Amino acid sequence: MPFPLGTKSSDHGLLVANHEFPTAHLMFPGIEARADSSKVVTRNQVNVEMAALGLSVVEIKLLDGQWTAVSTSSLNRRITANTEIEITGPLAGHSRLKTNADATGTRVLGTMGNCAGGVTPWGTILTAEENFQGYFWGNRVAAGELAPEEVRNYEVYGVGYSAEKDASGKYPPASGAPWFGWGFHHDRFNIEKEPREPNRFGYLVEFDPYSPKSQPKKRTALGRFKHEGATVVTKRRSPVVVYSGDDERFQHIYRFVSRDAYQRNKSADILDDGDLYAAKFFADGTGKWIKLHLGKGGADGAALGLASETEVYLEPRVVAKSLGATPMDRPEDMGVDPNTDRLYVTLTNNSKLTAELANPANPREKNLWGHILEISPPGEDGKRDHTSDEFEWEIFLLAGDPGHPQASARGSYHPGVTDSGWFQNPDNLEFDPKGRLWIASDGFPSHKSPDGTPAPVHDGLWATETTGPNRALPKHFYGCPRGAEMCGPTFTPDGKSLFVAVQHPGMEPGATFDKPATRWPDFKAGMPPRPSVVAITKDDGGEIGS
Ligand code: CA
Ligand code: CA
Ligand code: CA
Repeated sequence: MPFPLGTKSSDHGLLVANHEFPTAHLMFPGIEARADSSKVVTRNQVNVEMAALGLSVVEIKLLDGQWTAVSTSSLNRRITANTEIEITGPLAGHSRLKTNADATGTRVLGTMGNCAGGVTPWGTILTAEENFQGYFWGNRVAAGELAPEEVRNYEVYGVGYSAEKDASGKYPPASGAPWFGWGFHHDRFNIEKEPREPNRFGYLVEFDPYSPKSQPKKRTALGRFKHEGATVVTKRRSPVVVYSGDDERFQHIYRFVSRDAYQRNKSADILDDGDLYAAKFFADGTGKWIKLHLGKGGADGAALGLASETEVYLEPRVVAKSLGATPMDRPEDMGVDPNTDRLYVTLTNNSKLTAELANPANPREKNLWGHILEISPPGEDGKRDHTSDEFEWEIFLLAGDPGHPQASARGSYHPGVTDSGWFQNPDNLEFDPKGRLWIASDGFPSHKSPDGTPAPVHDGLWATETTGPNRALPKHFYGCPRGAEMCGPTFTPDGKSLFVAVQHPGMEPGATFDKPATRWPDFKAGMPPRPSVVAITKDDGGEIGS
């Protein structure tokens, strides 16, 4: 974020980084395998994990060609799994968000699973709570004795596990392990003790990085699902539009349209009132945003077990499904092309897509490679109407190795793509100031080709033009260290600095704190690999990609 707010400063800013999930087996000595880590972490280690998650705000300056943290800045801030956050919008105070610790249903501690997120034109951050379910544990059936209305909800979002009483009338222990061990040490992450705490996660959380004491707000009007990103479109005297993908196989692409029109400096809480939509794609290249609501023309609330219109925001997945929204191949990030005003959406992969479940917008059976969709709201280039319920769409690019012998694996790149120019598993997207599309990948090392050969290159960053003769002609720009995924590409307004985040370096099979696959970026004995932000500038100080 340029500093001060409202400027196009490119040598002074606030770096906002999210810390998505802990990796106990790489963080702490003595843990032998990732799979067991949640069962062996101590309470102290869980507390370290809770302090390590969330977001950081760091004031940074470009000094003598080097980006440098201002370690004494009063703007530096940590938001963790224990930071108090206000719940706002339609679900604030709802009975299904009340817990033992918060009888008001308006105050929650922490934010987790923070993914791509986005920025607003009014200078705030929207951070996206993605895999929140991984922090909870407990038996859904036992929790259902306290909160029967949540059992289906746990199942739809993958919270906890399911086990019926055995012959002795007792609930058996879980056969598997949770992603994280928090539920063993803190009651609020144990659904058998706090059955409604999971309803307080899965939101877009807005906060002001320029105001270090301001309280973040969970904006429930934007819906509860596994948000990957938040792409905001504002036009004068028009409602604010926020696009967000639900990153799970067969889930949907969502759009929020605010009730009120955007007015500069007067719209601080504009994301608290509005409607949610989910995308439906037709075979003829058209599409429709379906408004999620109950009653006439909408979903049958009684049949879905939703007590009121407000609960549409709590469980939009079931409403979107019942209204026929298109199930997608794991929607990740989105971006709007600053020149054409078209929307781009990454679908990262879906190994479970069968021929029967494939659809025009997700056409490849067992889609290990992912693809990118281009959505065109009505209107001319640069002046499209993102509030319209109609759109046109096409597949911008089918990712994967274009040289692969299996026809269905072939991508749909520009014919000039080079051996290093193709990629797979697109995740985060960013447009540079010139309007070129930058694509970060997540999944190269773990996603093998159908013949079992491992992907030949690692995750990284590619750039392509979206129009003209070089449309869909990606070029390789950056390669991650071993075991890492690439995320967060962000440019300074002058296009001369590019920040990228190297997430979970060294997370390779068998690697642990004691036996790391790499010690990037410190390369010092005793140091684990550490996720880090890399600032990239050109040797001659010019624009990136020039
Ligand atoms: Ca994701
Ligand atoms: Ca991601
Ligand atoms: Ca991903």
